[in-house]
Amino acid sequence: MSDTAMRFDGVGKEYANGTVAVDGFDLAVRDGEFVSIVGPSGCGKSTILKLIMGLESVTSGSIDYRAEAATDAAMTGMVFQQALLLPWHTVLDNVLVPSALEGRTKKRRDRTRAAELVQMLGLEDFSNRYPFELSGGMQQRVGIARALLHDPRILLMDEPFGALDAMTRDQLTMELLDIWDRDRKTVLFVTHSISESVLLSDRVVVMTPRPGRIAEVIDVDLPRPRTLETINTPGFGDVARRIRAVLDSAEVTA
Ligand code: ADP
Repeated sequence: MSDTAMRFDGVGKEYANGTVAVDGFDLAVRDGEFVSIVGPSGCGKSTILKLIMGLESVTSGSIDYRAEAATDAAMTGMVFQQALLLPWHTVLDNVLVPSALEGRTKKRRDRTRAAELVQMLGLEDFSNRYPFELSGGMQQRVGIARALLHDPRILLMDEPFGALDAMTRDQLTMELLDIWDRDRKTVLFVTHSISESVLLSDRVVVMTPRPGRIAEVIDVDLPRPRTLETINTPGFGDVARRIRAVLDSAEVTA
């Protein structure tokens, strides 16, 4: 799996109460690829991320990572819908939480990196502020900076912009595109938003309702770098319509 970052083979998850959340999930994600997962609520999107993080275990099939990722938790960063900041920590200290949790010895290097990330995400004037002093968009930026602290190869994002207003959402989507362009991390991005998935991704995995299966994987062959203007191009509309059609037919046949 030389250029494969992550491979799912027949992955299934049945929770203890008998809910089958994911069934027969097969996918190979290339190193540096941006892949989104879209599907209705309850189709198992978050479950897939939890299985990758090891927060839940698979009940069938297997998930393989690149060897180095499997042995180093720092290889994977996670961003949630809520930034989940510690209210008694400043912005900078919130970014440094993974470092503190791991009791890392490279504290000085981590502080330098945290300060760089705070600057990259436009938060330098707020680095000594507390979460209650920040807007929702700023809080989510802190969450992203925290996930990037240890420079993970794989970034898992669970509806990271879902709770934001439309303008902030667009702004953060563009910032994420910039970050990805710079580092080409492997990103698995869960979203309800078809347009967000098209704008960001190389491929979009469209799920069926529960139990979550892959209805179709759609290539997004739009040129990069992409901007908000990309949304107005005919190619964008074509891909978005294809995803919508697969989602609609999956709803009907489920
Ligand atoms: P999505 O992220 O697509 O909304 P989830 O992965 O959160 O979906 O959930 C998939 C299904 O699994 C849902 O029906 C949900 O109720 C169920 N589920 C999620 N977590 C648990 C759990 N810990 N125990 C039992 N059922 C769960």
